[in-house]
Amino acid sequence: MDIRAPRGVRDILPDESWKWAYVLDVTAKTMADFGYAEVHLPVFEQTELFSRGVGDTTDIVEKEMYTFLDRGGRSVTLRPEATAGMVRAALEHGLCVHGASAKLWCQGPMFRYERPQKGRYRQFCQLDAECLGLPGPVADVEIIALSAEIFRRLGLKNLEVVLNSVGCPNCRPGYRQALVDYFTSKKEGLCETCIGRLDRNPLRVLDCKLPDCGAIADAAPAVYEHLCGECTSHFEEVKAGLTRLGFVYKLDKRLVRGLDYYTRTAYEILSGDLGAQNAVCGGGRYDNLSESIGGPHLPGVGFAGGIDRIVMVMEQQGASFGERPQPAVCVVAQSEAARGASQVLTHRLRREGFAVEQDAGDSSRWARSFRAQMKSAGGSGAAWVCIIGDEELASGSVAVKNMNTGDQVVVPDAEVTRTIQTATSEV
Ligand code: ATP
Ligand code: MG
Repeated sequence: MDIRAPRGVRDILPDESWKWAYVLDVTAKTMADFGYAEVHLPVFEQTELFSRGVGDTTDIVEKEMYTFLDRGGRSVTLRPEATAGMVRAALEHGLCVHGASAKLWCQGPMFRYERPQKGRYRQFCQLDAECLGLPGPVADVEIIALSAEIFRRLGLKNLEVVLNSVGCPNCRPGYRQALVDYFTSKKEGLCETCIGRLDRNPLRVLDCKLPDCGAIADAAPAVYEHLCGECTSHFEEVKAGLTRLGFVYKLDKRLVRGLDYYTRTAYEILSGDLGAQNAVCGGGRYDNLSESIGGPHLPGVGFAGGIDRIVMVMEQQGASFGERPQPAVCVVAQSEAARGASQVLTHRLRREGFAVEQDAGDSSRWARSFRAQMKSAGGSGAAWVCIIGDEELASGSVAVKNMNTGDQVVVPDAEVTRTIQTATSEV
């Protein structure tokens, strides 16, 4: 077959998908424990939501969006991130009117046309939490604590919280000018992209991953001397709040989230075990995002974590994913004649809540021999095998084999559940 999955996307097959389910379970429980309610949002939105809400000068909007005209001639975009959609939904449904706040989370696929590498895909899955309507530093600390708690419960090790402030529209112009002056004086050492960024978005130069630009950015003026009084005290309170909760963090003046509507807190959680794609989550405050998409003033702070990378780090670190789901019971038909009865037993046990496997082939094709069925029952991890042969069929009974002890008893069909339950509760 010539048709393959498009470049940069991947299939999450059964060997991996149960691990994802575990990560999502732990996430859902932790979100609920922190008071965040789940929402399901569309995976495509009007393009304008992102060009205005993420920002025209970001890499995402400039280079990475999957944008197309639908059949009605409207420009739509596969979501590259979840925050803009979340704010859009909160505004559209009035979740934050009259000073109300909303704590929301979602998960699902995001789409960015990036250069595929390990831990970097064109479709990837994020978990995302947003706290809307609360301007104070307590919300920032809660968001950081929430993301860290998810990772703690997942058993991730060697994580580092990296923190910065990007100021606000009051203090940003002064800092911006200081950066423009500094980077202009070092212009000959910068890459093409950064020279382009100088006018439009000089903060992004701080973020450049190229070594030469990085060395110049390391010596750039730090934001801290430029923050206004309110941003300084907000930043101090975030730091104090994190310390109060026992978090260790590192300050990184080069950590920026770029745009005018990102304000104050910016943070990432990095894993030492991820190589170049080392961020498991990123987040921060965006008090001006709502206004940039045409809404009222609505402060917000949130984070997004990459599930692909989280699973990858967990695998590398040998973290537990709980138990892979396996059948409790395998039902085996010893003869062709017993197949009907074995299907009925399977169906009944499943309706009673047991996880049951059977050979779903039939005589026309696929049905496997008794030996083959027993072999796969043995390898399935099931604690019980129910066997129906000609004798059992004739007497309306079932041979129930305990795979842990090897014991086998023949019981009336109606007694199968009780036999399994009694033995299980005796263990
Ligand atoms: P990076 O610096 O790695 O490109 P980013 O700043 O673009 O990350 P965010 O937009 O903050 O990432 O997204 C939050 C998280 O989503 C990241 O920390 C990462 O775990 C994950 N992520 C982002 N882009 C991808 C991708 N292309 N493939 C897989 N995971 C990704
Ligand atoms: Mg990126």
